[in-house]
Amino acid sequence: MTIRIIYLLGLGHSGTTLLGRLLNAHSQAMSIGGTKNIPLFVSGRKSCACGALFPAECSYWSAVDDSLEKRGLSLSGLQFGYEDQENLKPEELHLFFESVLEASGAEVIVDTSRRRTYFAKLEQGPGLELIPVHIFKSPWAQYSSNKRKGMGLIRSLWNYNVRGRRIRTMKPKGHPIVHVHYEDLCRDPERHLARIMAAAGLAFEDEQVTAFSESETHILGGNRARSDKSSVIRLDENWRERLTVFEQSAARLLGGAVYRRNLKES
Ligand SMILES: [Zn+2]
Repeated sequence: MTIRIIYLLGLGHSGTTLLGRLLNAHSQAMSIGGTKNIPLFVSGRKSCACGALFPAECSYWSAVDDSLEKRGLSLSGLQFGYEDQENLKPEELHLFFESVLEASGAEVIVDTSRRRTYFAKLEQGPGLELIPVHIFKSPWAQYSSNKRKGMGLIRSLWNYNVRGRRIRTMKPKGHPIVHVHYEDLCRDPERHLARIMAAAGLAFEDEQVTAFSESETHILGGNRARSDKSSVIRLDENWRERLTVFEQSAARLLGGAVYRRNLKES
């Protein structure tokens, strides 16, 4: 059986949490968050979006663990840590995703791991069909989010340019990358979600926009938006207040070229 996975690529704080939830609200999609968070969840250092602090407290992840057990594996035994992901065996990856689908009854998995290296690892997995989706913000909006987390201007723009270029020059073996501009997604979610769903072989469902916060979610990792109770998509434009005029201009000047290239693809 081929397993379809929508894989989100992009920088931290670029809208992956929001997009993960909008996709999760589709009746046939299951968003699991970043798999690198599984070892943190197992050891009680990260919680599930449902509020569970350990897999045993969560009905969904308990069911995944049961499915894994039937296949001779367990959540705690999978090497999903940052460094360990390189050592994951391709067959085990397939069995893991099989368990994720079995426990949810969904047809498509959404993985918000974001890393290119892990994407490359998944590409080697037997029977996995990857639909890469790149979400990006403007360089000033990205810097504004990074600034709140203490990252400096130069480092933020460096990351923006280097990682934006790296993603754009990736050559996925299967589906081409779907590029999504965060600001456009907020303004016209139907249109951009429909593009992503079509790439994954599914039709857009209205609930993805009108009632996404009501769908059951067991996303691991992500920011506060993962368990927001409101189904209103608010475009975050805090850069207008948080950044000085100089910072806005610097971000425009130094990140503008990569931003325009990304926009052209979206
Ligand atoms: Zn849960």
